[in-house]
Formats: sequence, C-alpha cells, structure tokens
Amino acid sequence: MQRIQNYIDGAFRDPESGEWLDVYEPATGKVYAQAPASGASDVERAYKAAANAFPAWSGMAAYDRAQVLYKLSRLITENLDELALAESRDTGKPISVARSVDIPRAASNFEFFAGVILHSESQLHDTDGNALNYTLRKPRGVAGLISPWNLPLYLLSWKIAPALATGNTCVAKPSEVTPMTAYLLCKLAEQAGMPRGVMNIVHGTGEPCGKAIVEHPGIPAISFTGSTTVGQWIGSTAGKMLKRVSLELGGKNPNVIFADADLDQAVETACRASFSNQGQICLCGSRILVEQSISEEFTRRLVERTERIRVGDPDDPATEFGSLVSSEHFEKVSAAVERAKELGGVVHCGGEAVRIAGERCSGGYFYPPTIISGLDMSCDVQQGEIFGPVVTVTPFADEAEAVHLANDTPYGLASMVWTRDLSRAHRVAALIEAGIVWVNCWMLRDLRTPFGGAKASGVGREGGVDALKFFTEPKNVCVKLEGTV
Ligand code: NAD
Repeated sequence: MQRIQNYIDGAFRDPESGEWLDVYEPATGKVYAQAPASGASDVERAYKAAANAFPAWSGMAAYDRAQVLYKLSRLITENLDELALAESRDTGKPISVARSVDIPRAASNFEFFAGVILHSESQLHDTDGNALNYTLRKPRGVAGLISPWNLPLYLLSWKIAPALATGNTCVAKPSEVTPMTAYLLCKLAEQAGMPRGVMNIVHGTGEPCGKAIVEHPGIPAISFTGSTTVGQWIGSTAGKMLKRVSLELGGKNPNVIFADADLDQAVETACRASFSNQGQICLCGSRILVEQSISEEFTRRLVERTERIRVGDPDDPATEFGSLVSSEHFEKVSAAVERAKELGGVVHCGGEAVRIAGERCSGGYFYPPTIISGLDMSCDVQQGEIFGPVVTVTPFADEAEAVHLANDTPYGLASMVWTRDLSRAHRVAALIEAGIVWVNCWMLRDLRTPFGGAKASGVGREGGVDALKFFTEPKNVCVKLEGTV
C-alpha cells in the first residue's frame, strides 16, 4: 500500500508518532493509501525549517522567486495525467473534471501569483510638498495554510502560491481526506528548485495537526478554507493571539432567475452550478429562486436536463458526475434529503443512493443529483449548508421577494442573477449580501478580483492584489523633505 509522507525541510519524512491514517478511494469505498497522522512535534519541525528558510527566501529577488513558481506551474501542467488521476482517486470526482478544471487551475494559480509579484505597484503620497510617505510591504514570516477536500490541489495552491510569491515560507496542511495531490506537489517543488524549508507540508487531522499550526506562536498568519464551524474556532483562537486570519468558509448560495432570463442558458448553467463536482463546490448555487410565472416550466426543464447527467465510475472519461467524497459525507447528504422529505419537500429527481454498474464501484458513495421543491425558506434544509448534490427550488413573486429570500440565510459567499434587464441586474447585484454576484453566468473567474464571502461565509479576501496584502505587513515610511516646515 502506498504511503504518503510529510515534506519537511526539503525531505520526505514519516510522522514522528509512527501513526498513519487510511486514505479511501470514495468511488470504491476501499483504502488505497496511508497518510501521516502528524501531531504537534511534526508541525514544530516544519515550523523550524520554514523559519530557517525565511531570511534567504524573502531576501531573494522577486524575479528569482517567480522563476521557481513559474517552473512549478509548468511541471504541474506536464504532470497533468498523474495529478488528475490522484485527484480523482482521492475525491471521487470524474477524471475528466480533474483534468480540465482542478489541475489546470492549480497550475494557473502559481503562474498568476508569480506574475503578480513582478508587476505589482506600491504607493507614494506627497504630503503637501512637506514630506513623502511611502508604504513598504514585507512578508509576514511563516504562513500557516489549511485547506479542505473538495478541490484539494486547487485550493492548496490558491494559498501556497501567494504566500510564497510574496516571500513568506509556509507550513501547509491539506485535508486528511484527500492528501495525495499535495504529496505529488512536493515532488514537483523539488524538481522546480524550491529551496529546502520554503514549502513544508504536514498531513494529519484537524486535531492535533491543524490545531498545532493555528496555535503555534511563531506563525503570524493563518489562511484557512473549510467549514464555518472550524473557521469560527480558528478565528477566535488566532484572534486572541493577534494573528492575521483569512477565513474562506461555507455557503448556501442563491441562484435567482427572473422570468425575462434566457431560459436555455439559465437551465444549462443552473444544472452545472448545482451539480458540478457532485455539488461539492463552495460556490455551487444550492438554492434556486425562480420567478413564479416560469417556476413550473423552469423546474421541468431543469429536471429533464439533470436526468441526462452521466453518473458513473470517475475513471470513465465519459462520466460527468462521480461519487461523494466519503461515507460520512454520504450519510450527511442522505440525511438532509430524508429531512427534506419529512418536511414535505417534493423530490423531482434523485433522492435515493445509486448503485453503479460493475464490480469496481460497488462499494462507492454515489448519491445522484437531487432537486427538491416545496420547502419553506426558514427550514433547516434551506438554511444549512449540505455541500452535496442537493438543490432546492423556491418560487418568488417579485424582485423585492427575490432579494429577501436570497439574503435569508446566515451565509453570503456567492450568488447568481439571471435577467435581460440591465438595470435590474445592477440593482439586485448591489442588494444581494454575497462576496460574488455572477450575472447571467457562473464560475467565471478573474484572479485579479477580490475573492471571499460575507456574513458566515468568512472574513479576509485573498484574490489577486488582496492576497499580496494579506500575506504582507505594511509599513509606512514618512520622510520629511529638507527645508520644509
Ligand atoms: P473542515 O472545516 O472540516 O476542514 C477543513 C480543513 O481544516 C481540513 O484540513 C481539516 O483537517 C482542518 N481542520 C479541522 N479542524 C481543525 C482545527 N480545529 N484546527 C485546524 N484545522 C482544522 O471542512 P471540509 O469538510 O474539509 O470542507 C468543506 C467545507 O469547506 C464546506 O463548508 C465548504 O463550503 C468549505 N469551503 C469553502 C470554500 C471557500 O472558498 N469559501 C472553498 C471550499 C470549501
């Protein structure tokens, strides 16, 4: 059985405890690898390596740091097949999705942030001719980076790339559920000429491993993506230690469809936004709000389109929809649908576990795309994050009710608005409480824009230029000009 190792100070190491975690392939339900069950002593070792590497890495010319990151980006692209297979094995997502979305986006994260540090600008303020004020931005030191299982390599690289580009070193912990791509990334980092100690990856569970990173007194910045519950604990713990914290948390995103929308596009994109990656993307539109007059037609068409999604073995290149990530998550998703049924929800498609033909996937955690209507917005199914292939459809009477329902949740990560009325698009976009509003589209990304959520979906923004701010400490220098008062 393959054993994944920690990567500390440029070397692959077993966990100090000698203990290991089983890694499951969710499409088969079988253990296929083991990963370190690291603890505080492994984190301490990784921290020391990162602290030792910090002066040289942060002192290196931005051009030279960028070359290492560009090379890593190229190596990710060159190793697309191996990485996509690992991502698919770990998560149960179709190999075609890992190949076309996750891995290319991970490569582009390194490429983008390498470019950003070569082209970033700084400000100088002329204070009435008497003084010049300028702002220096210095890397914070050792960054603590913690990521979830749904887009394992993409979200880990979303943190590692800006942290390292700006001159920090890091101790990173991927999700214990999906450790394989992070392990492969370490091998590529070596090939890219990453100096030892700059990128350290420790594998393990939230407690004790992630906790040890958050509570480490020498780590001044924590960037976390994951659930709101864990994010709240991290926020309070790191806050007491006066650390900088970025929290990218859960969502319950509204997809608002007005009667004047291009229905062909709205149906097609709503289907993708509901069920891509088995609905396990924080940006998925899990609450569809549709104007009363087209509600029946829209629901019928969405169900028809959804029933054509090819659910199957992630290894099959034709598969569009694979398995959920784990048996625990399968139980959570099934329980949410049973609860919706208890509450009187009408299940239009899905709603029961599916079996995939053939021996290989007979023990896998497959749950089909599920569409439910007839639930009040105040119920727990509409309010809580399911993070699976389950969407609700709720009609609204007018624009005011659409906005009210869209905002009627604790979360505020992403949203969509479908309309041909330009004024309404801008008006509603401004009123929806969310970090992103997509108008007549979904998941179109520009890495230069801020990314993150409002309300219970998080604090701190890490997109583009904002990532440079998060990972650097500003210092203002005020120089009085000679001969002035
Ligand atoms: P999770 O919170 O259970 O775990 C995330 C990471 O935190 C894992 O690496 C885990 O080991 C670690 N962790 C757990 N407890 C910890 C602790 N006490 N201290 C430090 N680290 C700890 O989340 P998950 O189930 O892996 O991921 C799903 C969640 O992530 C969903 O809520 C989803 O919405 C969210 N998510 C958000 C975004 C975003 O950008 N906002 C993106 C992807 C996923």
